[in-house]
Amino acid sequence: MRILKMQEKYLEVFLESLDKFGTLYGPVRRRGVLTFDKVHDLKEVELGGAHPIIPLKKLFHPKKFTMLHFDERGFYPDYSMIERRVVLGVHPCEIHGLLKLDDIFLTKPVDPYYAGLRKNTAIIGFSCLPTENSLCNSTGTDIIEEGFDLFFVDLDEFYLVWVGSSLGHDMIYEREEFFEEDVTHEDIQKYLQWREKRNKMFKHDFDFRSMPDVMELSHDSEVWDYFAEKCLSCGQCSMVCPTCNCYNVTDVFDVTNESVGRRERVWDSCMFVDYSLVSGGHNFRAKRADRLKLWYTHKLKSFGDEYGQPGCVGCGRCVDTCPVDINVLTVAQALTAREVPKH
Ligand code: SF4
Ligand code: SF4
Repeated sequence: MRILKMQEKYLEVFLESLDKFGTLYGPVRRRGVLTFDKVHDLKEVELGGAHPIIPLKKLFHPKKFTMLHFDERGFYPDYSMIERRVVLGVHPCEIHGLLKLDDIFLTKPVDPYYAGLRKNTAIIGFSCLPTENSLCNSTGTDIIEEGFDLFFVDLDEFYLVWVGSSLGHDMIYEREEFFEEDVTHEDIQKYLQWREKRNKMFKHDFDFRSMPDVMELSHDSEVWDYFAEKCLSCGQCSMVCPTCNCYNVTDVFDVTNESVGRRERVWDSCMFVDYSLVSGGHNFRAKRADRLKLWYTHKLKSFGDEYGQPGCVGCGRCVDTCPVDINVLTVAQALTAREVPKH
């Protein structure tokens, strides 16, 4: 992979030049909340800082959208949300999350909405420093080697820039004069020192490698009942998790003509009580303990069985978000503790 160097002073002008490759998106504040959205002014983009609470998946697997319109003659897929985009400031765990969504949505049968959004979007990655609850060093997702067009590592007065695709090369050629080929021994030392400093900043450290086995062994653990007593079934953990991808599909009919309408897709969560409700009124997971067990077994074991690596990318959002302190860390710690936690 080609690695170049760019002085810090060129960053803004270079990022501005990327708008010829698509509409710019990035982490910006809207009503005080950091979120991935269209960029109106590059000065508003928060690169390398805290991550938006709703992950990048919202740009590829939108919270709610119209899939198709229908009438007496047939149905018409709606791809109007697909446009050429460039997303700035994407952190490594977020790119890992996107690669996991690729496993799900781009495996046959391919999801045409996700595929269209993905194919038309360039990813400009940015290095970051750990936040209070980052777990990516524990899940091995703090470094990214694929899944981006360009990736910038911020070494204060300059950036090291990884070029990850032919589109990334095209972007560089736009402003070739900003980039230097010569990465010196001193630059490499700076990069290694940055990694060392960053590694020391993580506040949590947990070895998740044993978790697939632990999940297999913990099917009947009392730990699930302990957490079920506390869980509110609010589904926030699913909404904020970059790799949760369940959705519901609803037909919305025109009030004047019931043959006409649209089909909508909206995020869903296996933490909701009616998620496993089927016709006839049977609910496969009416108990909260069963729903929690499903969520964590999928995240820490079954996803890996199917796609090679566990479904947690260590972003820490479930730690930030759950109002009753149920998250990938507290669950993994409880399942591996010497004693079952007491109510
Ligand atoms: S684990 Fe926490 S965030 Fe998830 S549904 Fe239960 S209470 Fe809500
Ligand atoms: S399980 Fe928690 S830490 Fe892991 S990817 Fe999901 S939200 Fe992030």
